[in-house]
This record gives sequence, structure tokens and C-alpha cells, in this order.
Amino acid sequence: MTQTIYRDTWAEVDLDAIEYNINQIRARIPQHCSVIAVVKADGYGHGAVEVAERALQSGAEMLAVAILEEALTLREAGFDVPILVFGRVAPKDVAIAAEKDITLTFFQKEWLQEVNQISLPQTLKLHMKWDTGMGRIGLRTEKELKELIDELKDQSNVQLTGIYTHFATADEPGTDYFHMQNERFDRLMTAFERMWTDPVAIHTGNSAASIRFPEKMHHYIRFGISMYGMYPSSTVKGERNIDLKQSFSLHSRLIHVKQLAPGESVSYGATYTTSDYEWIGTIMIGYADGWIRKLQDIEVLIDGKRMPIVGRICMDQTMIRLDKEYPVGTEVTLIGRQQNDMIEVDEVADYLNTISYEIPCMISSRVPRIYTGE
Ligand SMILES: *Cc1c(COP(=O)(O)O)cnc(C)c1O
Repeated sequence: MTQTIYRDTWAEVDLDAIEYNINQIRARIPQHCSVIAVVKADGYGHGAVEVAERALQSGAEMLAVAILEEALTLREAGFDVPILVFGRVAPKDVAIAAEKDITLTFFQKEWLQEVNQISLPQTLKLHMKWDTGMGRIGLRTEKELKELIDELKDQSNVQLTGIYTHFATADEPGTDYFHMQNERFDRLMTAFERMWTDPVAIHTGNSAASIRFPEKMHHYIRFGISMYGMYPSSTVKGERNIDLKQSFSLHSRLIHVKQLAPGESVSYGATYTTSDYEWIGTIMIGYADGWIRKLQDIEVLIDGKRMPIVGRICMDQTMIRLDKEYPVGTEVTLIGRQQNDMIEVDEVADYLNTISYEIPCMISSRVPRIYTGE
């Protein structure tokens, strides 16, 4: 999508990295297993449409999102592949999903009964969610499974096309809980196969599970964070089972450069005071862009060197202590590579005591996304 940009701050999304990461996981999972590209939350902040397009060109066969709006956006953009919504869509809203051939997730008998009352423009495709230990959504017992299957058999306006579960600890050092969830899934599957003979697509693993336990994967994997080139956790990163390329980077340019005398202060609250003659640069990014105040004192890259943010981060602007004078217009990299150094998303996440997932998501839509790669 072309967009006129009037500001010196932008995020770059390297689509070649998306392709690279999908190739990496496809080489690791069984041949019969294919990739669902998870592009919820506007593609983890990278841009759902652009990422989805490249993911499908790279061999992904399905798209997945969290909410119906996200699925509709993808259909509007012209994607005609299967799209799965992970969350619960209210029964009153399922007609549009059926009309647009969007696959929904279900796990409640009452939900099916309500949907049964609605006249749908065409058959609604459904994936059934099993809660094997995540404790979020999904049916948990064989009794619930039987009730749902009985309900489904009575229903003509829906079609069961898939079954899935989600792992709570696939990225953690201890693997007992993961294997316990797998065993619960297998037990429910045995029960299911006694009640149902039509083919269904089975998928259990997210990035972490598919990277660490590829042999346990079924028809699909749900590939999210690692498609974007980030490791699900330090455990997965440390195991070095897969090489990933970070797609996201964040950049700005110096819009003002000045020298301050010793004892001068910078930004709200005058919390930073120079101890010598210091060069201070200003960039146009702030907490309204998702570059939150807690990032005060983190380093950025200029001329391939690390320099700290000083003083409080403002709504729209941030100051940096420079090692010398630089011209206005000099590029500043807040996330990503400059010459021989790189600030990984992980580094920013660690600084904030959070996980990589949160970082590109929190860079707000005010920051334009620029796409690079073929
Ligand atoms: C977000 C999500 C995924 C993707 O997980 P990653 O760790 O990003 O690979 C997979 N499945 C479900 C149900 C999700 O909500």
C-alpha cells in the first residue's frame, strides 16, 4: 500500500525475512504438514495484508486471526484462502462469517444451538477448540465432546472442518506439561474418532511447539511469532533449532542537534542534567507512537554506535545524547541493524521486562510501515 509520509519516523518490514522464516519452518516440520500464517493484531504490528500476501506466496495455505473484523479485512483485501478466527464470535454475528466463507472456532453447546436458529447464506465452517491445559477457551472433557458432536449431527447449516488445541508451555524449559497436554489431546482424539468419521484438519502447535516438537505436529501448524523472525522465548532461542530473520525494524532521523553546556537539563521534569558539554539530538517519536516512557535511558544506534536516550520521553519527541555533532537528517535506528550492531526486538522486550510479541504490537499505527523485499 502506498502512502505519503511526512514524518521522519518509520517502521520497516522486511518481507524477504517472512519468506525466509517460513522456509525455515517448512524444512523442519513433516512433509504432510502445512503452515497457517497467524496474522492477528495486524500481523503482530507488521501489517496483516502485506505479511499474509508474502506468507501465502511462500507456501502458507491458510490465514488465522483473533477476531472477525480482522478476517473481514483480509477478505476485503481479496484473499480467497481459508481464514480461521481463533476467538469466539457471538452467534448473532455468524451470518457474515458464513457469507464470507470465514471459518469460526466453537467449543460451547449453547453456541451451536443458537447458531442453529439462524438462517445462514451458506454453510458455516467450524473448527472445534479443545482446552487440554491452556485454561483459556475450549471444551475439556469427553462428556462435553459427546454433547457437542450430538449437537453437530443435528445441524445442517454448519460443517466441522477442523479440530485444534493450544499449548501453554511449549516455549518453556520443562516439557512435562507440554507432553501432558499432548496426551490429553490424543485421548480426546481417540474418543472423537469413535464418534466422527468425516475428515477434519488437525492442528496443535504454535511457533514454539512446531520448532521444538516438529514430529508431534499434525496437518497444520499455527505459525505466528517466528514467521516474523522472533523466537518465542529465550529457551527456544538458546536451543538453536532454527535460524530466523527479524522482519521488523524501527527508524527515525535527527530533526534537531545542539550542544548544551554543563549543568543544563533535558525534557519534562528536568530529570537529566548534562555533566559536561554534550551534544543532544531530538527525534520525532514518543509514547503516542508506542515508544513508551519506560524506554527512557535505552540505547539507539547512530552511525553504527550505541547512544542513550536521555530525559523523559515525550508524547511525540525523544532526546538522545550524541557522542559528537551529527547533521540534522542523520538516521537513528531504535530497533534493527546499523552497520555491525543490531538492536533486536528481544533487547527492547528484555529492557521492558516483557516478551518480544509485545514490541511491534505496541508501535502504534501512527508509525508508517514501509515494506522492503521483492
Ligand atoms: C496467537 C496464536 C498462535 C500463534 O502463536 P505464536 O506463539 O505467535 O506462534 C497460535 N494459536 C493460537 C490459538 C493463537 O492465539
